[in-house]
Amino acid sequence: MPPGMAADVPGGHGDGGAIRGKYFRQADKFPGSMPGSLVVPRRFHGEAPSRRTAGEDNTVLMPSHLTEAARGALAADLHALLGDRCSTNATQIEHHSHGESWHAPGFPDVVVFPTSTEEVSAIVRLAHTHRAPVVPFGVGSSLEGHVNAIHGGISLDLSRMNRVLRVSPDDLDCQVEAGVTHRQLNKALANTGVAFWVDPGADATIGGMAATRASGTTAVRYGTMREAVLGLTVVLADGRVIHTGGRARKSSSGYDLTRLFVGSEGTLGVMTEITLRLHGLPEAVSAAVCPFETMEGAVQTVMTTIQFGIPVARIELLDELQMDAVNRYSRLSYPLKPTLFFEFHGTSQDSVSEHARTVQEIAADNGGTAFNWSTTPEDRAKLWHARHNAFYAAVALRPGCKAWTTDVCVPISELARCVLETRKDIQGSSLVAPLMGHVGDGNFHLIFVLDPNNPAEFAAATELNGRLLRRALAVGGTCSGEHGVGLGKIDYLGDEHGDALEVMKAIKRTLDPENLMNPGKMFDV
Ligand SMILES: Cc1cc2nc3c(=O)[nH]c(=O)nc-3n(C[C@H](O)[C@H](O)[C@H](O)COP(=O)(O)OP(=O)(O)OC[C@H]3O[C@@H](n4cnc5c(N)ncnc54)[C@H](O)[C@@H]3O)c2cc1C
Repeated sequence: MPPGMAADVPGGHGDGGAIRGKYFRQADKFPGSMPGSLVVPRRFHGEAPSRRTAGEDNTVLMPSHLTEAARGALAADLHALLGDRCSTNATQIEHHSHGESWHAPGFPDVVVFPTSTEEVSAIVRLAHTHRAPVVPFGVGSSLEGHVNAIHGGISLDLSRMNRVLRVSPDDLDCQVEAGVTHRQLNKALANTGVAFWVDPGADATIGGMAATRASGTTAVRYGTMREAVLGLTVVLADGRVIHTGGRARKSSSGYDLTRLFVGSEGTLGVMTEITLRLHGLPEAVSAAVCPFETMEGAVQTVMTTIQFGIPVARIELLDELQMDAVNRYSRLSYPLKPTLFFEFHGTSQDSVSEHARTVQEIAADNGGTAFNWSTTPEDRAKLWHARHNAFYAAVALRPGCKAWTTDVCVPISELARCVLETRKDIQGSSLVAPLMGHVGDGNFHLIFVLDPNNPAEFAAATELNGRLLRRALAVGGTCSGEHGVGLGKIDYLGDEHGDALEVMKAIKRTLDPENLMNPGKMFDV
């Protein structure tokens, strides 16, 4: 244990108390702040005045739901239930206070590691008794501040519920506990002839992926978590356990509660077990990288490929700046041009070659300069490893800086206009913001690489992000194709959903009347 850190104290605050204490000390500086209010240093993100109050000395207030006494009683009860699988250790509290993109952290009071649905139910019942927020946590790879415990409470870490419960290759489905990661699952599926294809780059948990309705590079061929999840076991906010969906390939029976929980970001309940759709392994696979003279050419190639119905398995766009970042980070030497990464899957090498040839012709018509093939599995792994590290490669462009990433998704016919206008916007600013995306779905990302000591950069990025989201919404797109809402997109949900947002809030109030499940995320109720 690092020097200066207290041991875990059941019922007390251990190191977590020390961490919170560091911030609580400042709370009395702010008129009207409650005892126990959490004060965190001002970060660039998530500072909507409606949710936080800025103080004079560059800090942000986030009121805790719990009094000091309530926190102690909660931790004592959880410790009695879980023993050393309940932690107030400072490192754990810090680890569970944020995701991977840059948003103001929110420190939970306590972190718990259940190992069964029954334990999750007991934890949620205790939370209900103590009126404590519950923030489900997978591996914390989400990007919009989803896991930040902005009102304190319990961070419910599902990583120890990581058993693959059943694999049925003949039915192309399986059942897993929510804390299994997609790489763990695919390891367990080795030699079965089937695979789970949703691949968000980070080794996220299936529960976290379901909760964010994640997708990734292969969604253009295999779909997103919306298509992949067939059924769920969910612990509701009052501790009840329900089962939704099932293994049947189709059903006309009742409301589709599975799809209600997929994408609910932990705001409606905790998913503990998930039934997933699998796909057979392709007989033949080819991958290639193709640089283009212009961004227009690259995007037009994507649009034509999709409109022709060519079944690409992956089609990823990276702009020149992102290619530079990838080259530096992964020690590669791709040309510094707008570039498409392709993968083709098929039942035979002939079918793959035919699709690849057609796309190659489309690319050549649009200024694609060369198709560089990765023929061996090792070469393909290297290519996709570089692509999956693109986020970290972007961060490394500016040492000491932090990354804030955003994503939109638009109808495919609007992709070129949306990408080109966004690029023009970036070029007209002084921001470092590489662009990349799963463009086969009309989905692309910006990664703002920002100097934490320069609030003007954050202000410029916030404005540019706002213009991007409004541009996407104006053409019938969405403010998030796959990362979700969390804290970062809250202000755009009304614009996107109109009156339907009130229906979402009504569902939330019905299932979680005390507003304890990941409160303050997705929308304020
Ligand atoms: C380098 C990098 C690349 C990425 N690329 C992509 C990409 O291409 N596509 C994409 O979609 N995402 C991408 N992401 C984002 C991220 O991987 C996803 O958001 C992921 O789905 C989150 O899973 P997690 O296990 O990390 O969940 P967490 O981050 O731990 O949690 C995410 C949300 O889900 C809730 N939650 C977690 N588990 C449960 C559960 N069992 N029940 C109910 N709620 C739960 C949490 O409360 C939180 O609101 C990327 C992230 C990184 C760091």
